[in-house]
Amino acid sequence: MVKTVECPHCGRPVPWTPDSRWRPFCSERCRLIDLGDWLEERHRLPADDSETPGEDAPDSTQAPVRH
Ligand SMILES: [Zn+2]
Repeated sequence: MVKTVECPHCGRPVPWTPDSRWRPFCSERCRLIDLGDWLEERHRLPADDSETPGEDAPDSTQAPVRH
C-alpha cells in the first residue's frame, strides 16, 4: 500500500515513495515551474508596494540645486 499525494502544481497523484524523486511534485518539470512561480512572486512583492519610507524622496529640502 503506497501513500499518494497530489502534485501541488498539476494535482496528479504522486506515490510517496523514494522512487518519486520530485515528490510532492509529479515531475521535475512541475517542481521547477512551481518553484519558479514562487520565486517570481517573492521578487514581485517588494517591487509592487513601493512605499519605501523616506530615503529616496525626490524633493527633499536638502536637494542640491544645479545650474
Ligand atoms: Zn505535476
